[in-house]
Amino acid sequence: MFGGFGGIFVPLKLKAKKSKLKIMGKIFVIANWKMNPKTFKEASELFESVKKAVKKSGDIKVIICPPALWLKEFNPGANMNLSLGAQNCHWEVSGAYTGELSSQMLADAGAEYVIVGHSERRNYMGESDEVVNLKIKAALRAKLRPILCVGERAGEEMNLVVESQLTKDLAGLSVGQMKEIIVAYEPVWAISTEGGRSCSPDDALSAALFIRKTLTKLYSRFLADKTPIIYGGSVHDGNEDGYIRQARMNGVLVGGASLEAEEFVRIVQNIK
Ligand code: PEP
Repeated sequence: MFGGFGGIFVPLKLKAKKSKLKIMGKIFVIANWKMNPKTFKEASELFESVKKAVKKSGDIKVIICPPALWLKEFNPGANMNLSLGAQNCHWEVSGAYTGELSSQMLADAGAEYVIVGHSERRNYMGESDEVVNLKIKAALRAKLRPILCVGERAGEEMNLVVESQLTKDLAGLSVGQMKEIIVAYEPVWAISTEGGRSCSPDDALSAALFIRKTLTKLYSRFLADKTPIIYGGSVHDGNEDGYIRQARMNGVLVGGASLEAEEFVRIVQNIK
């Protein structure tokens, strides 16, 4: 996009005007690096840049979820605004599961959170809701806070899919365990690698309200109000405000835009 000024064309980045609505409580900004970047050197530079920039981010908790083999290499240090998360865990504590990592192993390596039920794992690894439920329980046993991803694919009904996922994925969890859960609403059609159609703040707000209604049915109004609900899907520098202040989300889950330190840090700073 180019804007003219005195005959000179200068690049313009269009940004939504920041809403005046105040943000309430803790905000989570979660970076899902997926199977990126390509080398440890790049990963380490990315981590250190983010670590330096997100000090003193107030009520914002930044959670970096790198590929698991690098968890041990990264140290958030005394930075209370920064934590590490894993992208997946196994449901068993140990055993003959070639290539897998248990929740306890991830916790020992420095993870405090774990993403569970991401649509890429549901699609490519055939992860069922029953498996997601077992993984959540395993994560909680290892004192990891699960970040449960739910959301519909293109052409599916949000209400039907999300209600079914929440009911099955959270089955059997006690109220005490539920207090550790973060729910991420990630409409699959809005994820950048899936085409990244934009999800409007209004649609994100409807989904958040529906998630709270479902949690009220499954547990209680109190618990539904207390559960952090975050949004994920093509979040980038400039559109985060709509999800946080308009859609009243408790944070964002960022994929592609978390791989570029400056952009990711700007997302955090825009929310502040
Ligand atoms: C994701 O896949 O969790 C995600 C949010 O990706 P992106 O931000 O790239 O859409």
